[in-house]
Amino acid sequence: MPEDNPHITNFADSPESFAETYAQNIALFESIGDGAIATDEYGRITKVNQPALEILGCKRNDLVGQWLPKVVRAYDDQGRSIPLMDRPITQAFLTGRSVTEKLFFEYKSGESLPVSLNVSALMREGRPIGAVLLFRDITQEYQIDRMKSDFISLASHQLRTPLSAIKTYTHMLNEGLVPGTINREQRRTLSTIIEATDRMNQLVTTLLNVSRIESGNVIVNTKKVNLNSIIARVLKDVQQAKRFEEVEFKSNALNADKPTIITSDNLLIKEVFENLVTNSAKYSKPKNAVVNVKLTHRHAKQTVLITVQDNGIGIPARDHSNIFSKFYRADNASGQDTSGTGLGLYLVKGLVETLGGRIWFKSKLHQGTSFFVELPVSHKAENSAGRNMDIINKITS
Ligand code: ADP
Repeated sequence: MPEDNPHITNFADSPESFAETYAQNIALFESIGDGAIATDEYGRITKVNQPALEILGCKRNDLVGQWLPKVVRAYDDQGRSIPLMDRPITQAFLTGRSVTEKLFFEYKSGESLPVSLNVSALMREGRPIGAVLLFRDITQEYQIDRMKSDFISLASHQLRTPLSAIKTYTHMLNEGLVPGTINREQRRTLSTIIEATDRMNQLVTTLLNVSRIESGNVIVNTKKVNLNSIIARVLKDVQQAKRFEEVEFKSNALNADKPTIITSDNLLIKEVFENLVTNSAKYSKPKNAVVNVKLTHRHAKQTVLITVQDNGIGIPARDHSNIFSKFYRADNASGQDTSGTGLGLYLVKGLVETLGGRIWFKSKLHQGTSFFVELPVSHKAENSAGRNMDIINKITS
């Protein structure tokens, strides 16, 4: 019975309670320190609190009754308008889950303002009946973040020069290009230095690429790319590391009848697969470790699908939603490999998206992980208008 349940109010019996609860809800909404906007199931704004008006520089009348995506414009960190399909409110409506993101809202004056936004869809019987957006101005955090990125970019640029000198001279020593003889013990020491230098070089490259992705300065050089050669090269390079001696690497791309050629960026694709294959080898189990790279041409979709599969330690289910976040590492991985940074997958996702593709994964703890990368056969600026119309129709119908 409702009256037995303290959480359920029987409004039919008591109109005063309804008015009281309504007033309480409004007061609660207004007292939220962050900006808060509520919408109906069509995305039309029903309520706005005072902090939201201050953050957006608007008056209540500018917003209430309006369609949220139209009056609260959102941009990414490159200043590109976020397509309706990708807006957190759309994602929250479509998935029924709460979505948290950092993005830019347009201030009334036309300036854009970095905000941290959380959107929750209000669901009834599996259908969205509205949404609540909570957001706060993160201008200061954003500026500090920019300064950090600039510092990382500068530091990694500066590290490159001495690193390439170390790399060149150790290789010269190892290949006997410097007069004098090297004994067995010294050669072993030298190969450890070479391996450590390669890892340091990889780290510096990752840091540089991360700062390029974040500042929108990734240069994409599209030309014909032979995916079979890239996969062969990556497998060969990763296999060479002494720590992966016990791992078996295989791929259907190594003995294909004819190569798969796409129009994309050679170097960026190589970077993506170097990271994924290295991860699979790094997070393998000590016995019978196999890393398998599968290449499939999806002619009908005009895409290629590359799967990097391993039978390693797997990713715990509780870490799945964070695995592409910057600096994120699962506990079982930190125990296995202490040198990781949690930057690789963040970078890989950024690169794949820059190339117009998408990435996802499946993983079972103790059984293994598969990362899937789908890339367009021909990389060009994405036309999302068609996709967006479907969603607009869904939300507004
Ligand atoms: P790093 O490997 O430097 O820690 P990444 O960004 O490449 O950083 O990966 C982030 C995290 O994702 C890893 O720390 C690990 O927890 C998990 N991970 C990535 N690839 C795999 C894999 N193939 N098997 C198990 N865990 C993985």
